[in-house]
Amino acid sequence: MLIVLSGPSGVGKGTVRKAMFANEERDFVYSISMTTRKPRPGEVDGVDYYFRTRDEFEHEIKTGGMLEYAQYVDNYYGTPLKYVNQTLDSGKDVFLEIEVNGAMQVREKCPNGVFIFLTPPDLGALRQRLEGRGSEASSVIDKRLVQAREEIKMMQNYDYAVVNDKVPLAVERIQNIIESEHLRVQRV
Ligand code: 5GP
Repeated sequence: MLIVLSGPSGVGKGTVRKAMFANEERDFVYSISMTTRKPRPGEVDGVDYYFRTRDEFEHEIKTGGMLEYAQYVDNYYGTPLKYVNQTLDSGKDVFLEIEVNGAMQVREKCPNGVFIFLTPPDLGALRQRLEGRGSEASSVIDKRLVQAREEIKMMQNYDYAVVNDKVPLAVERIQNIIESEHLRVQRV
């Protein structure tokens, strides 16, 4: 089973994913992404990411080595196909944590995957909160609402929406989804 965790930028996907694998053994394997961004302090090649040059990354794209990839803030990010296939072939589930454009590419290629959208809390109450606060210029409110609406639209392409109100709760909900998916009799 291919499990994809995605969602709008800034929602805390990375934090949730790290929490997910921090303390407990999981039945699924995290797919380490490839990126052209420079490592942050403490990040290790082959653990946090495969850190590669632009040339190396573009070579992977050209030779069909990526399951999906996207440009995000001037850098490439992508999922190497090799490790995903190796893990699936060994009978284990694979867990991807990727931004939304990449997730939609995976959706096209692997429609049977489980697609989980991490949402910020209070999305429904956003307008009320923004207007009620009275401190934001109306143009700023409008921009935020446009963005929020785009985010809600993306949610329609996923199988599940998980609110990231508290990280341990979000982790638990995702774990529950994965367990339920394993109990499914038929995949549609
Ligand atoms: P960061 O630079 O903060 O580690 O990640 C930036 C963004 O890239 C996050 O939204 C993260 O989910 C996304 N990302 C990480 N790995 C991949 C990947 O393999 N493919 C895609 N499409 N996005 C990724």
